[in-house]
Amino acid sequence: MTITEPTVDVTAPIEHTKLLIDGEFVDSLDGSTFDTINPSNGEVITQVALGSAADVDRAVAAARQAFDHGPWPRMKPSERAAALWRLGDLLLADAAEMGRIETLDQGKPYSLATAGDVPSAAGLFHYMSGFATKLEGSVIPISAPGEYHTYTRREALGVVGLIVPWNFPLVITSWKMAPALAAGNTVVLKPAEATPLSALRLGQLCLEAGIPPGVVNVVNGYGPTVGQRLAEHPLVDKVSFTGSTATGRRILDAAKGNLKRVTLELGGKSANIIFPDADIEAAIAGSSAGIFFNAGQACAAASRLYVHDDVYDEVVAGMAEKARQIKVGDGFDPQTEIGPVASLEHFERVSGYLDVGKNEGEVVTGGARIGEKGYFIEPTIFAGAAPDARIVKEEIFGPVVVANRFKDIEEVVAQANDTRYGLASGVWTKDIATAHRTAARLQAGTVWVNSYGVFDPSMPFGGMKESGWGREMGHDVMHDYTDVKTVCVRIDG
Ligand code: NAD
Repeated sequence: MTITEPTVDVTAPIEHTKLLIDGEFVDSLDGSTFDTINPSNGEVITQVALGSAADVDRAVAAARQAFDHGPWPRMKPSERAAALWRLGDLLLADAAEMGRIETLDQGKPYSLATAGDVPSAAGLFHYMSGFATKLEGSVIPISAPGEYHTYTRREALGVVGLIVPWNFPLVITSWKMAPALAAGNTVVLKPAEATPLSALRLGQLCLEAGIPPGVVNVVNGYGPTVGQRLAEHPLVDKVSFTGSTATGRRILDAAKGNLKRVTLELGGKSANIIFPDADIEAAIAGSSAGIFFNAGQACAAASRLYVHDDVYDEVVAGMAEKARQIKVGDGFDPQTEIGPVASLEHFERVSGYLDVGKNEGEVVTGGARIGEKGYFIEPTIFAGAAPDARIVKEEIFGPVVVANRFKDIEEVVAQANDTRYGLASGVWTKDIATAHRTAARLQAGTVWVNSYGVFDPSMPFGGMKESGWGREMGHDVMHDYTDVKTVCVRIDG
C-alpha cells in the first residue's frame, strides 16, 4: 500500500473528541471537557471530553464484559490476526488525517508523522497480528509417579490498561495495543492529556477493522484521576505504562491492590560513545539525530555524549555545526526538521534545565527559546559539566545534549553506567572487538552500534535499572501480555 501526498487543511474539524466506550463515542459522565493545544502556536485545537474515575469504571466494565463474554478472546486466532492486519492497512490508508492530527496535537513535522509515525504504528499491528496464531505452549515430560500428559497453554491476561505519554502518542500506543490485542486481551487506553486526538482516531479505525465493541476503549483525562483509577482498578489485570520514572512508581503503588501485572517503560539518560577509530562523519550525523530527533522528546534520546579525547574537538564542533543548521519550526512547514516541545508545561521544564546547564557547564551552541510564540527550543549542546551535575544525571527530555570526554574504554564504560537509568546506549567504532566488548558491558536494554535510534517491531525494547520493567515489541513482548497455564492430566487409570 502506498501513501499519497495530501494537501493539508490545518483548520478542518477534528472528527472524534469524545470518549470511546463499548464501541460508542460518548460524552464524559459529568459532561466536562478540556482544551487540547497546538504547541506550535499555543492555540486551542478543539475541546475533548474529560474523563473521570467514573468514566474509567464504565470503560473497564465494557472491557471486562468483552473479555469475559465477548467474541474477541474466543474467535479463531486467524480471525483476530486478520482484524489486526486490517487495522494496519486502515492506518496506512489514513496517514494523511492521522498525521495531520498528530502534528496539530504533538507538534512534530507533518512529513515525519505521515511517513514515520503512522507507517511505524501500522507496522506494529501488521507484525503483531502474526502472534495471534503462534501463541503456543509445550508438552512437558514429567517424572512424577504415574503416567501423565502435561502441557502448557499461553493465555490472554484479561483487561489491560494502557497509559501512554505525549512524545510519540500513536507509536507508543501501538507498541502496547498491538501485542495486547493479538493475545486476545481487551484494553482501556488513557492517552496523555497533552495529545489525546490520535488515540481517538485509532479507536475509530479499530471499529472499522472489525474489532468488536468494548475490546478497545479510550478514556481521555488527567493522570491523577483517570490514570490513577486505571492503575488501581480491581477489575484490570495488567497495566502497561510509558512515561516518567516518578509516575512509574505511583503506578506501581496503585497496582498493588490486586497485584496486577505491570510493564513500565520509563525515562532514560542514554550514553552515546564515540571511539577515536569511528567513522566520524557518520557518528556526528547519527549522534545529532539521536538527540535532536522529535525535539529530544524520546525516552532513548542520546542525551549524554562521550567522545574520546583524540576526536572530541572535531566531533563537538561538527555536532554544533549540525545543531545550528537544523530548521526548527511549525510542523506543517515543509522545511521543518524538528517542531516545538509538546506543551507549555514541558517547555517551562526544559527551559529550566537550560538555566541549570548554563551554571553547571558551558554552552557550545543553543541554550535559548526560538521566537515568542509556540514552544520552540534551540538544539543545545552543553560541555564541561561535572559527572554529578544535574544536566548529566537528570532526564531533560528536550533537544539538549551534554558532551563529555574520555580516554579509555574502562573510563567510559564506568561513566556510561554511572546513572540510575538503563534504557539505551550508542557505540561508534570500526573495531569489532571494541563494539562487542563495550555493548556487553553497558547496562542498557538496547545498544546501537554505528547507528542510533533504530526501531523495528521485531526488536525488543525496554529498560534495565530504573528505566523500567518488561519489554515492548519483538517476541519477548508476548510474555508481558499473556500468562502460562500448566495442565497436568493423569492418563494411567
Ligand atoms: P508522566 O509520566 O507524568 O505522564 C505520562 C502519562 O502518565 C500521561 O498519560 C499521564 O496522564 C499519566 N499519569 C500521570 N500521573 C499519573 C498517575 N498518578 N497515575 C497514572 N497515570 C498518570 O509524564 P509528564 O509529566 O507528562 O512528563 C514528565 C517527564 O516524564 C518528561 O519530562 C520526561 O522526562 C518523562 N517522560 C518520559 C517518557 C518516555 O517515553 N519514557 C514519555 C513522556 C515523559
